[in-house]
Amino acid sequence: MANPANRSGESVGRIELICGPMFSGKSTALIRKLSAAADGGATVIACKPARDTRYATDRIVTHDGAGITACEITGADDLLGRARDADVVGIDEFHFFDMPVVDACIAMADEGKRAICAGVDLDHRGEMFDVMEAVSKKADDVERLTATCAACGAVATFTQRLVESDDRIVVGGAGDYEPRCESCFDRGSAKGSR
Ligand SMILES: [Zn+2]
Repeated sequence: MANPANRSGESVGRIELICGPMFSGKSTALIRKLSAAADGGATVIACKPARDTRYATDRIVTHDGAGITACEITGADDLLGRARDADVVGIDEFHFFDMPVVDACIAMADEGKRAICAGVDLDHRGEMFDVMEAVSKKADDVERLTATCAACGAVATFTQRLVESDDRIVVGGAGDYEPRCESCFDRGSAKGSR
């Protein structure tokens, strides 16, 4: 668990995680939390990986087009530098990052910051992304969102990849992926083992 460094009650550091399949509203939930914190007077910063080229380059956008201004970061050092003066730090598409970014979140929480991470928990094979597993173990609060299965309408916790690729991460949106329930999720349909 993140250890609150500041026990004065003014600013207690913590790590919050929002996870689930694609199209489960993670970015919307992140934007809502960041907006609420900003409305409350906190200095808020939103970050996303520089490799996420969907829709816009300097904004976190949801699939329905809503968004807030975000800076693109390349990794842990970049994150810590950008977040220096912030009270609340939102990080979208967390599954795209490497393990040092988890350490950066722990460091920020220890400094009294609130780090809010959002990302896809399960990859196209239905296996947890390493970085998501690591941050979930350190999170003070985990919000698991679900989507609606595109095949049958049941609760979806998996993301089906519709395009063939050998890469574990393929940046895409509607048309490349769709949410599926456990029954409709096909682990073997995506080509490649990693
Ligand atoms: Zn289904």
